[in-house]
Amino acid sequence: MLDPQDIQQLCVSLGGVAHTRELTAKGASRHALHEAVRAGRLDRLRMGVYCVPSLDTAVRSAIAHGGALGCASAAQRAGLWVMPHDGVHVWMTATGHERVHSPCTCVVHWDEGVGLPAPHGGCVSLFHALKQIAQCCGEEAFFVALESALRQRRISRTVLARLKTSVPREIAPLFALAADNADSGLESLIRYRLARLGIAVAGQVEVPAVGAVDLIIGDRLIVELDGKENHDGARKRHKDLRRDALAAPLGFEVLRFDYPMVMFSWGLVEAAILGKISAGAHETVAGRRMRATTRP
Ligand SMILES: [Zn+2]
Ligand SMILES: [Zn+2]
Repeated sequence: MLDPQDIQQLCVSLGGVAHTRELTAKGASRHALHEAVRAGRLDRLRMGVYCVPSLDTAVRSAIAHGGALGCASAAQRAGLWVMPHDGVHVWMTATGHERVHSPCTCVVHWDEGVGLPAPHGGCVSLFHALKQIAQCCGEEAFFVALESALRQRRISRTVLARLKTSVPREIAPLFALAADNADSGLESLIRYRLARLGIAVAGQVEVPAVGAVDLIIGDRLIVELDGKENHDGARKRHKDLRRDALAAPLGFEVLRFDYPMVMFSWGLVEAAILGKISAGAHETVAGRRMRATTRP
């Protein structure tokens, strides 16, 4: 008979979440499952579904609700940068039914999963999650998650092409804008928002003597972004000031924004960028002359 530790390993090998039938098919008797729960090696999530004790709370909620973690919640758990979202997004399979559990903050998706891989470890596939984000969270959230997936090389060209034909038609043009070099979700977000204003922005540009900068508008307006993960204050500030000082004699202007500014004070960020652009801070004199002479 499999002992509780064996049963836990078995559950891990099945993705950390398993139905009774999957576990018994691999040689675990019902009595052994009971013993594994008693020994603290397995948790019983609901009737017929077990998980390893370390399973995170979002997946537990989705399963307790009767489905699998989906949409932005699944993309976040898979390690993508996603926009802040409320609740736990849950995909209900076609044959599933919702269950009462507490606390329930679930945002439920009933889309068909025909032709898609079955959930693994209590989560939908990344393809399925991105498709749901496109339908549930809007263009901006989809773009940010898509660029994060591209940056992390998490979706193949084939999957990307399939995704393009699976999302709402109005979202398809975003695929042409999406790049695979965005260093953070903030970078994706700012590029998306400026593109909507008709402002082209290049990401992760190598500037001589300075190094890679997050974004450049035109020839010389650098936009640097500080993610919320940057906590090493004084050292980081010194490094940033030094980069700005190196960029200045080369004719670059630098704007810096942090996570709260981009996420919660976009008006301020947009006004700062548009102000610099209208003052010509993004163009060199030569660039301006060239554009003037080539303009029809
Ligand atoms: Zn959703
Ligand atoms: Zn729920």
